[in-house]
Amino acid sequence: MENRFDIIIIGGGLLGCATAYQLAKRKAGRILLLDGNEIASQASARAACLLTRARTKPGLMEIVQETYDCIAEMEDLLGESLELQQCGSVTIASSEVSLKGLEALEEAATRFGIPNERISREQTRKLLPWIDAEAVDVALYMPTDAFIDSALLCSGYARAASKLGVELRPNCKVKEILVENGRQVSGVRLFNGEVLSASLVVNAAGAWANLLMRPLNVGLPFTPVRSHFWITAIDSERFPAGHPFTVIPDARAFTRSDVGALIIGLRESCCQAFDPSALTERLEDFDFNQAAKWTVLDECAPLLKRYLHDIDDLPIAHYMAGPSCYVPDAMFVIGPVKRYEGLFTVTGCCGGGVAAGGGMGRLAAEMITGERPFVSPELFAPERFGEVNPFSPEFQRRCADARSNKKGG
Ligand SMILES: Cc1cc2nc3c(=O)[nH]c(=O)nc-3n(C[C@H](O)[C@H](O)[C@H](O)COP(=O)(O)OP(=O)(O)OC[C@H]3O[C@@H](n4cnc5c(N)ncnc54)[C@H](O)[C@@H]3O)c2cc1C
Repeated sequence: MENRFDIIIIGGGLLGCATAYQLAKRKAGRILLLDGNEIASQASARAACLLTRARTKPGLMEIVQETYDCIAEMEDLLGESLELQQCGSVTIASSEVSLKGLEALEEAATRFGIPNERISREQTRKLLPWIDAEAVDVALYMPTDAFIDSALLCSGYARAASKLGVELRPNCKVKEILVENGRQVSGVRLFNGEVLSASLVVNAAGAWANLLMRPLNVGLPFTPVRSHFWITAIDSERFPAGHPFTVIPDARAFTRSDVGALIIGLRESCCQAFDPSALTERLEDFDFNQAAKWTVLDECAPLLKRYLHDIDDLPIAHYMAGPSCYVPDAMFVIGPVKRYEGLFTVTGCCGGGVAAGGGMGRLAAEMITGERPFVSPELFAPERFGEVNPFSPEFQRRCADARSNKKGG
């Protein structure tokens, strides 16, 4: 009995923990969540933490709204605040192309009932004391956008799931997913040799998920791609805490306030993908910059200079890099892996697991329990690209291009 579960979830990051919470809410049975490291310690502890509501791709606004709903629900359940910071966002356009993108976002937000308004240069300057507003042609303000500490959110899902009965086992690394008769999933084997049984296994192992799929001849359609940002030294007057985050597609940039400092995220036009088998077990041991080309500042800093004129002289206090799992169509990977009975995945976060985790977990839980899905599952089907080899450089390039072309927050 002790080692027998209805569902085993591999991965205690945002996606695994959100799925555990959503399954527990639905009383889906005896559930175990395993992580090879501490819970909430890997990609989910490295995010810029933006919860951008307005999206132009189908299903995504519903998915993000579910995350906001989960936060409120979990605060009730846990009796504590998860410290959501409703700072608002400003999307900035200074070219014809970015104006088109802004208009599409504005239309999507209005359709979905997300408050939004175009603001003047004067208002932009007031909200963003650091910006050179003369460079801003059009600014779209969305006052209900927010950010949240991603590790705190992840541990919130985990603790809420645990309160609803999910067993959490950190520092338990899965060696293999077990299959009987070549078809039916039967559980997992740990590196310490222990076998844990379940007829349903959810692979939410983030950047490592394909390493567990490889022996089963399954390729999930994503690859880890470097995401990164810089944090300036503190200057509270210029970068007041809680001012809106920005998305500036013309500079391939986003910014966010961080207790008196400014977080600056830049996306190079040729993003760096990694072969999953090159990753270390813990991200702390992986040097993202040795393993990748370093041209982002040369390319992006001059673009941002238009809006942040002294960027070349700005003291930088921290740099953060991590893997985001990108898919060629920049949509998530959620659902059953059809080759096997009882094998599910929730992966391919496309740099959006903080904003989307609650909804991704809900969709997975609905499919597992046989409920009617709240968004169309075909959009996220693991097999939608046919057979893929995530270990091939060609496929990895396709995934990296999805990040290179990302315009939103
Ligand atoms: C720099 C950066 C900025 C970002 N900014 C944002 C943002 O602003 N907004 C946003 O929405 N998203 C953002 N993201 C994306 C967000 O961080 C991810 O979408 C999210 O963390 C993915 O969660 P995950 O559960 O898939 O991965 P992880 O948190 O990495 O969790 C996967 C877990 O699986 C475990 N695991 C792996 N293999 C095994 C095994 N064999 N056995 C047991 N456990 C295993 C790992 O230990 C790990 O804890 C950002 C990401 C980065 C790197």
